[in-house]
Amino acid sequence: MVRPPAVPAPVDVPVDAPVDAPTEPPAPASARPSAAATDERATGGLEVRDVVVRYAGTGRRDTGTTAVAGVDLDVAPGEVLALLGPSGCGKSSLLRAVAGLEPVASGTVAFAGQGLAGVPVHRRGFGLMFQEGQLFPHRDVAGNVAYGLAGRPRAERDARVRELLDVVGLAGYEGRPVTTLSGGERQRVALARSLAPRPRLLLLDEPLSALDRGLRERLALDLREALRATGTTAVFVTHDHDEAFTVADRVAVMDAGRVLRVAPPEELWRAPASRRVAEFLGYQAFVPLADLSARQLGGVARGADTTGDTVLAVGPRGLHVAAPTGLSAPERTGAARGADTWEGTVVGSVFRRGATEVTVDVVLPGTPGTATTRVVALAGGDDEPPRPGDVVHVAVEPSGCAVVPG
Ligand code: ADP
Repeated sequence: MVRPPAVPAPVDVPVDAPVDAPTEPPAPASARPSAAATDERATGGLEVRDVVVRYAGTGRRDTGTTAVAGVDLDVAPGEVLALLGPSGCGKSSLLRAVAGLEPVASGTVAFAGQGLAGVPVHRRGFGLMFQEGQLFPHRDVAGNVAYGLAGRPRAERDARVRELLDVVGLAGYEGRPVTTLSGGERQRVALARSLAPRPRLLLLDEPLSALDRGLRERLALDLREALRATGTTAVFVTHDHDEAFTVADRVAVMDAGRVLRVAPPEELWRAPASRRVAEFLGYQAFVPLADLSARQLGGVARGADTTGDTVLAVGPRGLHVAAPTGLSAPERTGAARGADTWEGTVVGSVFRRGATEVTVDVVLPGTPGTATTRVVALAGGDDEPPRPGDVVHVAVEPSGCAVVPG
């Protein structure tokens, strides 16, 4: 992925400076939004209208890239919106355009009813946080968190630092040199620093993706709590749907520069509304409704439009192994055969999050010939997990499936 060139740290936004930055940017004159800006929080949030972001090409063959191709978005005061999509779909470009770091080729960005065209980054009252916390190495934790609070009375500054360290779970860390912190702790400090000046909008670009999986999951929960506790309006960029669902009130799924769907996590999950969104959320197989048994259809598609070109999108938890194990292959096949299950061959199984996930190559209904599709089905808790090569039958778990246009 091509990253835009590094931007100089603006004067009064707590943009993170690189750890090895030879010089520290000047301390902000007024990092906090003006009183007027604070009042604006009550009247409206972020409005993005038909925004296009383009990068110029370098020559005759490289004619440039349209990274954002006409996006509309609204973020209400106090709301956390995730921009979710595969790498290169334009999330960072959109975020940077909102921040004022990237020019908007057409369309408008406004906050609290005020258009931001021509308003420089450091006059927007927005906070920014990136993947690498990029703390000032020669300042201690308190010094980093207080970066955006210069000009405030000392007692107020100290109190705010204490409050924010408490919010991010680092109470008592004030005097720690940041060079002694773990990766997760550094991101917590970076978060505290970007929250300290009470930005009217916080823009977070993959703030957890440099951390390992377990830590990321924990920090995602803590990030949500910190944003809620401080009532912060935020836009959060991620390519990880679990992270988006954990942190955000609403999720905007992006693909190829466009927003495909915006919805609260549960609604998005239940009704992805298109096959592309479902694929991106991890729905693993798609079966025309016409090829389902009546019982499968009844369980899944109740109330859905089953006419026309609709398909069943099978979610990551949308299948379970129906065949009893411990029988010989012919017995097993005989026991479970029926129109409501699909036959397949076990590839392997893993025990994860308290359940056995069995990978199976199944022949989906409607598939021509003997072509198989690799799916993951949950095994019953009490059964011995099936072994590679076993023939099993998998059944649809209605609660883990959705109906989408074909
Ligand atoms: P994401 O954040 O979803 O990974 P980006 O916004 O970084 O996506 O990139 C969107 C598209 O714009 C990609 O095709 C990327 O290669 C291109 N792009 C990003 N930054 C630049 C740049 N500075 N110059 C040229 N192309 C860029």
